[in-house]
Amino acid sequence: MRRYSAFAIAREAARYHTGWERAWTSPVPKKKYDVIIVGAGGHGLATAYYLGKNFGITNVAVIEKGWLGGGNTGRNTTIIRSNYLEDDSAALFEKARSLYETLSQDLNYNVMFSPRGVLMLAQTEHEVRGWKRTAQANAYQGVETEYVDAKRVKELCPIMNIEGPRYPVLGALWQARGGTARHDAVAWGYARACSDMGMDIIQKCEVTGVTSEGGKVTGVETTKGAIGCDKLGIVVAGHSGVLAEMAGFRLPVESMALQALVSEPIKPCMDVVVMANTVHGYMSQSDKGEMVIGGGTDGFLNYTQRGSFHHIEETIRALIETFPMVSRLKMLRQWGGIVDMTGDRSPIISPTPLGNCFINCGWGTGGFKAIPGSGWAMADMMAKGTPGPLAKGFGLERFREGRFIDESVAAGVAH
Ligand SMILES: Cc1cc2nc3c(=O)[nH]c(=O)nc-3n(C[C@H](O)[C@H](O)[C@H](O)COP(=O)(O)OP(=O)(O)OC[C@H]3O[C@@H](n4cnc5c(N)ncnc54)[C@H](O)[C@@H]3O)c2cc1C
Repeated sequence: MRRYSAFAIAREAARYHTGWERAWTSPVPKKKYDVIIVGAGGHGLATAYYLGKNFGITNVAVIEKGWLGGGNTGRNTTIIRSNYLEDDSAALFEKARSLYETLSQDLNYNVMFSPRGVLMLAQTEHEVRGWKRTAQANAYQGVETEYVDAKRVKELCPIMNIEGPRYPVLGALWQARGGTARHDAVAWGYARACSDMGMDIIQKCEVTGVTSEGGKVTGVETTKGAIGCDKLGIVVAGHSGVLAEMAGFRLPVESMALQALVSEPIKPCMDVVVMANTVHGYMSQSDKGEMVIGGGTDGFLNYTQRGSFHHIEETIRALIETFPMVSRLKMLRQWGGIVDMTGDRSPIISPTPLGNCFINCGWGTGGFKAIPGSGWAMADMMAKGTPGPLAKGFGLERFREGRFIDESVAAGVAH
């Protein structure tokens, strides 16, 4: 595939943009692949990409029931940070964040990574103590974060009201190299690079069954027929439980909708990401000028991908005290995605009870930021057959052993 460059843009402009190649192909599935990945979200595509890039495994199909990036990857609020509390999480999320720094160059696709900084507000004494503890842990883990006071918060985000009557801002955990990226571009960039390596991305093809023999996976049944494989990766976020059932095992994962909304575009007014866990909302400004606003999950298990009115009301009500200007904004769109929640709010990157079948799920409300690191760790595990250093803490057995990686504080509000 020809490289994207300033020269290519000039060349195509001169010939009325008639020479661009398709970014990825839509092939008919082969009878058999070395590896099948189910789910063309960011995590599935990144797994395929690093299988090819790091291990030279390119006889790979990524099978997607809808369109690539149409799941949570194209529905999230794109916050990227790595200031987690536990060592296993900090290592994995920091690997992902550092890969994001050079992802555009690596994929030759502009993923618009914007390390604009992430503020996680402390609005209670409990949060002050919590964030100070996380900052201390991050210092030991080699993750650059700092605890900043309310005055510094106001400097970093002047539109914020730090003297709210109920929840004044007392300080924040600040990660200057955190930020955002363009979610669709992450999926498209990985897809293009996978296609360029000769992998097949098969869209509009639902996996309806998993076949096995002698305790090992042999392939999948799909709406486009049976397809064989030596190794299978299940990377389907909110549908992980459904796929696990097809493969004959159960997962400690619950699926529910998480919602977000965006406002009309306004002039640039905020160049950091702010998460307010106590009032339960978070906000950033997109490059188009829209205020991107996220709230919490639905309070019941479900598979819907829709928004609902009470969420707008709750989320905006939560944010108004901290960002009074929100009350004057008109909202443009609202949507939901099906997130896969584990009890300890940490992901699962693991072999499964079915031989040569691996699973990557449980990213819940915060997996966009992890995509490159997760794909890296999953590819390593699938190529070698056992979890490597990044994945080994995230095995399924931790739920049986009670060895949780408890990130419910770091991920409490999500993202
Ligand atoms: C509203 C919202 C806001 C969020 N905000 C953030 C944020 O700010 N920062 C952050 O880090 N994370 C955030 N997240 C979480 C993040 O989006 C997810 O953790 C991440 O995108 C999961 O990626 P994935 O590739 O695992 O899943 P997905 O992108 O959902 O991909 C899974 C794919 O599997 C496909 N699939 C399912 N079943 C089958 C089948 N039977 N056959 C074939 N294909 C199948 C689906 O169609 C889907 O495309 C947010 C999520 C939501 C919903």
